[in-house]
Amino acid sequence: MPNDPSTAAIARLRGEFVCATMEVGFLHAQSRTILRDLRRALTLCSLFYIMFSVSDILALGLPGALPSLLARCAVPVLAYAGLRLAWRAAAPVKTAYRVASVFTLLGMLTYMVVAWRRPADTLLHGTSVGLMAVVILIFIPNRLRTAVAIALGSSLAFIALAWYQHLESTRHLVSMTILILFANAFGAVAANRHARLWREQYRTQQVLTNLSVRDALTGCYNRRHLNAALLDGEIARARRYRLSLSLIMCDLDGFKAINDTYGHHAGDALLRSFAQLLQAMTREGVDTVVRYGGEEFLIILPETRLDGAVELAERVRAAFAAQRIDGDAGVLATTASFGVVGAHFAANQAITPQGLIAVADELMYDAKRGGRNQVRARQADAGAARVA
Ligand code: GH3
Ligand code: MG
Ligand code: MG
Repeated sequence: MPNDPSTAAIARLRGEFVCATMEVGFLHAQSRTILRDLRRALTLCSLFYIMFSVSDILALGLPGALPSLLARCAVPVLAYAGLRLAWRAAAPVKTAYRVASVFTLLGMLTYMVVAWRRPADTLLHGTSVGLMAVVILIFIPNRLRTAVAIALGSSLAFIALAWYQHLESTRHLVSMTILILFANAFGAVAANRHARLWREQYRTQQVLTNLSVRDALTGCYNRRHLNAALLDGEIARARRYRLSLSLIMCDLDGFKAINDTYGHHAGDALLRSFAQLLQAMTREGVDTVVRYGGEEFLIILPETRLDGAVELAERVRAAFAAQRIDGDAGVLATTASFGVVGAHFAANQAITPQGLIAVADELMYDAKRGGRNQVRARQADAGAARVA
């Protein structure tokens, strides 16, 4: 998911996010709703599809209606099997959309059998096809372009069949054709509007979530989110799977002097550049950078042993010490001090988030006392060690 969801564009025609990651995130977040809507839609459609057998029997008699009855009965059986598949699938939305496509395609194809066998009711079938196109477009959850292809494709096939049979007057056939095309156009426009509004709503939700979990100046996660979800979640995961996890606490050196000399604005620029460096040097979507205090940052490194975390801290330290930022007030530069703690949950299950942060903080202050611009590290249950 992009850092700033407010900029995520929605394609006007497709009604999907242009950014594939955002679209995947959206579908993942909506998967329960999509599966629930699919179940409702398929149940209702199957019910009505079966109910229409009565008119087949009345029109053709029981023996004559048998092929269309069989065709109609296949649809709910398939719907049930597809729904079971979607609920158990590793990629539920993808499977749900495939089920929707197969269901609607088969529904329309079997309806062609019905229309072929009851040519006397062409106009009635035309109304049904128009209605079914609307249902496919706006009621059964699917990708918009797939739904359009199925609804419009099968509508055109039916129109071709009706004109080929030509059992109604040309005047009636023309009206029926326009009616079916209108139903398709109306359904496609409504479905497109719904797809875009749904994504706009999701985007707003993401923007609000982002505002509540991220720090406005640096874009890093804030302390509230750290306390509410992040660390407990990562520690629980590490504990469950007996993994390693490391934390790096870092604090800019002599930052007050920068503010005092160059002004608060320059201080802010330096903070932003440090945060950018941290974001760029950590693994996107795996590591988490939190603004822990004014000029203090905490990095959570899941599945990372102490030596790997120390190596990262050392690389960040060296990169930041070498960085020069051109500000309005002059060239800004400073260093940072780092405290690194590693925990291995296969060996020690009693480690707590607060305990780990306290050790990282203590090590960071050790680095300050040792002269700043250095890294201090320790395994959660071992003695302290000076690293750089
Ligand atoms: P040390 O090397 O011991 O860490 O010294 P220091 O000057 O970096 O630390 P100190 O705690 O004395 O000062 C931190 C300063 O950070 C004081 C505070 O005004 C400033 N600060 C906190 N938040 C912000 C911010 O968002 N923007 C700016 N510009 N300054 C901030
Ligand atoms: Mg400081
Ligand atoms: Mg500080």
